[in-house]
Amino acid sequence: MKPRPSGEIKALALLNGRLAGSYRTTLNLSTGGPTAVLIEDGRIARLGDDGTIRGLVGRRGRAIDVEGAVIAPGIVDAHMHAFDCALALRRVSCLPPAVDSLTGLKQRLADRAGSLPAGAWVVATGYDDTRLREKRHPSRLDVDAAVPHHPAVVGRVCGHMSVANTLALASAGIDAATPDPPGGTIVRDPAGAPTGLLLETAQDLVWRVTPPLSGPDIRHALSQIGRQILGYGITTICEALLGAFHPLEVDIWSELLSGQWDGPRVRFLAQPDTVEPALAARLPVVGTKLFADGVITGRTAALWQPFEGTADLGMLIHEPRELTDMVRRSTVRGLLVGIHAMGDRGIAVALDAIERAGGPAGPEQAAGQRAGRHRIEHCTLPAPESLRKIRQLGVVPVLQPSFLFAEGEAYLARLGHRRCERTYPLRAMIDQGLRPALSSDAPCTSWDDPINPWLGIATSVARETWAGSVLGTSEMVSAGEAMFCYTANGARALGLENELGAIATGKDADLIVLPRDPFTGEDPVRLAALRPTAVIVKGKVVHGAFA
Ligand SMILES: [Zn+2]
Repeated sequence: MKPRPSGEIKALALLNGRLAGSYRTTLNLSTGGPTAVLIEDGRIARLGDDGTIRGLVGRRGRAIDVEGAVIAPGIVDAHMHAFDCALALRRVSCLPPAVDSLTGLKQRLADRAGSLPAGAWVVATGYDDTRLREKRHPSRLDVDAAVPHHPAVVGRVCGHMSVANTLALASAGIDAATPDPPGGTIVRDPAGAPTGLLLETAQDLVWRVTPPLSGPDIRHALSQIGRQILGYGITTICEALLGAFHPLEVDIWSELLSGQWDGPRVRFLAQPDTVEPALAARLPVVGTKLFADGVITGRTAALWQPFEGTADLGMLIHEPRELTDMVRRSTVRGLLVGIHAMGDRGIAVALDAIERAGGPAGPEQAAGQRAGRHRIEHCTLPAPESLRKIRQLGVVPVLQPSFLFAEGEAYLARLGHRRCERTYPLRAMIDQGLRPALSSDAPCTSWDDPINPWLGIATSVARETWAGSVLGTSEMVSAGEAMFCYTANGARALGLENELGAIATGKDADLIVLPRDPFTGEDPVRLAALRPTAVIVKGKVVHGAFA
């Protein structure tokens, strides 16, 4: 154990609170229960009435009167990309609602190019074709028109496709003769020339020749993101694709987490070839991140029935047998898998891979049993059979309700109303005994406040898009149920259910103080704007009042 710096308070008491207790599948305010929490050595040592807890803390520590505020468990964002959020801080942002037309997008690119010497890269992210007035992707020629003298790449908000201009394609060596890489598509015009749009792994051809940001620059931005995350009341995150964003990613994380990190707790899902280096660097890796399919909005998710108005069934990233082998390789190492799967066919393929990799019995399986619960990331449109299989296999679905808000209109165009009503089926999952975790997937969301968990909670309640369409009233849940998924179920998705996710004696003291009761009939718009007045991680006030 590290020696405690002098002056650090050993005990902390929160008095005069309304505690959010766990009731089966929901969080709710207890009536007539404890009103105070005693925290010792970073853990919840005792719950009780104000007088008792005040007496116990005595002169050993500090007692804070929260004046009737709500005390809830800290939020666990079970799938986000803090590192990519940090990179996004340094790139041109094309996120809606700020950028809502190709003209606006081109202007942003041209502005950035104007501040750079000719030949320097212009790197942008966050465009959403469905939110642009022109309702199409930019082309190589669009980007050329804005940025003729600089190589430029613009990532779509989903992270699954990018548009490169002529100079960027040339830098990457992509021309009409370049074959599609495995798992990717270089979109071409009728004459066979690349249009600039690159799907899935094809975009890596360009991204890998963009100049990497410097280590110190990223460290600074990542620390900034860590503090932002705490400000929303998120006390633990799962960084869901370690190794995909920068050559120094593992080094930067390990340096930050072993030193002065004042952000949330962090766990990792690593991409397959980053697992070993990340474990060697002693990063807390819980699993391997794999991909079954693409995304709904980009029509690359794998479906059983075609996307609306097309014959297109989307795409699988791997042959099913290959995916099964990848799951097996992860469980042999004692690691779970988090498989990205959005379409009903993609989800079925992912579950098959998990099921097949589970047997036959042997040394592999014995090792595999050390792995935690496998996860399906997004799990956007599960078929009823898949819900049954998720339960049977003990898989954790990790959902992003804020996608319904930010991208629900695009989902309507891609899937039609009936299928949209079944997306992110939180009510069905809870009723069938599943334990879904919630998350933001920031920055991969078509909204310029992507980390905000309260938007996800509000959308779980209202299922309303940014434009006001309501998608599937039968899948609505209460704010308390959504909070339970965002706390207890999130902790469980990371194998941290014994330490985190509830206010109970013996658990780590990761708590948030809320200025009002979010559980009873809060208007969704107000709910999305809720922020904690104080955030406590490991018993230490890290944000807001009392810090
Ligand atoms: Zn993600």
